[in-house]
Amino acid sequence: MAKEITITGTITVGDLADKLDLPPTTLIGELFKNGMMVTINERIDADTAQIIVDELPDVEAKIVQKQEEEADAPQRQKTSTDPNATDRAPVVAVMGHVDHGKTSLLDYIRGAKVADGESGGITQHISAYQIEHGKDKRKVTFLDTPGHEAFAALREHGAYLTDLVVVVIAADDGIKPQTLEAIRFARKAGVKMIVAANKIDKEGADLNRLKGQLAENELMPEDYGGDVAVMPVSAKTGQGVDELIDMILLTTDVEELKAVPDGPSRGLVIESHMEKGKGPLATVLVEQGSLEVGDFVFAGSSWGKVRTLDNASGKPVQSAGPSVPVSVSGFKTLPEFGTPFEEVASEKEAKARAEEAEAGKDARGKLSGASDSDLLRAMSRASQLQELNVIVRGDAQGSVTSVIDSLKSLNTDEVAVKVIASGVGSFTENDIHMAASSDAILYGFHVSLPTGLRQIAARDNVKVRLYEVIYELLDDAKAELSDRLAPEVITEELGRLKILKVFKTTQKDVIVGGEVTKGTAKVPSKVKIMRGGEEIAEVEAFRLQRGPQEVKEVQSGEECGVSLKTEARLNLAEGDHLEFFTRELKERSLK
Ligand code: GDP
Repeated sequence: MAKEITITGTITVGDLADKLDLPPTTLIGELFKNGMMVTINERIDADTAQIIVDELPDVEAKIVQKQEEEADAPQRQKTSTDPNATDRAPVVAVMGHVDHGKTSLLDYIRGAKVADGESGGITQHISAYQIEHGKDKRKVTFLDTPGHEAFAALREHGAYLTDLVVVVIAADDGIKPQTLEAIRFARKAGVKMIVAANKIDKEGADLNRLKGQLAENELMPEDYGGDVAVMPVSAKTGQGVDELIDMILLTTDVEELKAVPDGPSRGLVIESHMEKGKGPLATVLVEQGSLEVGDFVFAGSSWGKVRTLDNASGKPVQSAGPSVPVSVSGFKTLPEFGTPFEEVASEKEAKARAEEAEAGKDARGKLSGASDSDLLRAMSRASQLQELNVIVRGDAQGSVTSVIDSLKSLNTDEVAVKVIASGVGSFTENDIHMAASSDAILYGFHVSLPTGLRQIAARDNVKVRLYEVIYELLDDAKAELSDRLAPEVITEELGRLKILKVFKTTQKDVIVGGEVTKGTAKVPSKVKIMRGGEEIAEVEAFRLQRGPQEVKEVQSGEECGVSLKTEARLNLAEGDHLEFFTRELKERSLK
């Protein structure tokens, strides 16, 4: 019998796991296998949920989509009626199934179209770049963060950020789950789509089959009478890439993309990381106005004064206008990606706005609707909770967030992961010191540990775990948490003996004689000494003697001598009872 799960709009991975009675990590893992790097708080739609559920063995569930009530993500202001507005470049996201060639296509376009900076062709990776195309040198901005993180980020901010989605489909492979996801995303956001039928140079490429599949998914190709442009390309040879960009411009021209190019700027942080010697570096995409060196800005709870601006080729620039991505230094702390930024008039205002955002965050955290019973649960947990301190670092803000959320999904009432610090980029010496003083483990995802620090970590006995696969990282954390679980105590009652005579008492042992009145007396075992119904000591029984013979056990109804090992002198008396039992500690592990 298949379970029915109703989803209104979208559902978080955590809630879906709850409804399916599955650990969230199972779902996260399955999504991950499908190329979607999601966190427990990420929202997925009903179709994605169904695809994932269908792929899980032993799970049968039917996802029922209820009419959506929530409003869609805010639309990016594509055009402007302001008399000062001028044309701006379209912002394009490249999406599609893993291995279908998103990175290759972006790299090809970048290599062929971006004028290299003066740095001898070494281009910085800043998550977005702008190209010039054709005789008129028309500009197009590409978001250069393909793959899972970008996908997750775009899901939340994409509608706001992109004017067009290029859905890359390998023509030799066809439509795959993540392709459908990309298509749904674009539809839902009301963003136009172009299909890039990639790997057209390969022998198995079959454009007709691909078009047929598109038609089946209500994406009618132009030559079938529909409105979806299907552009055959090869990211390897470059075949068809110019035509693809022509088509991007043709498609977005209709929308008359405009923005005001001067005045105070605002836009979105699309990437952020710590850079050696430069501090926090953020890539922002300007939406309106002009961002200039010296401007005061804030993004969420981060603020700063723009110290330098670099374009995608790593060349310093003085300003950046609409649709232009730039790398910004000068933020005091690392702004989170996906946060809008805004230029303000003064340092004072930037700071105040950032503090406001921070306070808002705190208040939300505190008032997250905790009910009395939640509180009670939290309080009782606090009294026994075992914590695993961790410091998390990843190659990008998105992966750090994903790792942290995934780690937190392992928490139970008894053990929990406590993230004492996190950040983007390699581990630092400070991380190691912090880990050493708080007994924390360093978890790195797609980052390295500089050689110098490896020695310091070894010296200070700091555990450093570097992973490329989130599953393995989680397994490691699970094992660590399991170690912190209190072991299960298994006791087995064996038998009871009534002391008839005390033969010998020393500091270290006692020898008594008595009758087994219940069960079996066994050695080696533990013994509770009971006097008048009360336990007066717990000792160990190491020898049993029936008559002259040493034995391992004595049954009920028989008499025997028992040697007990004691910690201190123990004065036993006739009439006391010995209760024989065994106690084992069984290690437990997180399921
Ligand atoms: P992504 O996961 O979508 O970013 O895919 P990648 O760009 O990493 O490409 C996956 C694999 O397909 C790589 O081995 C590429 O070299 C290969 N590839 C990508 N585009 C083409 C293409 O047009 N032709 C051929 N023959 N191989 C391609």
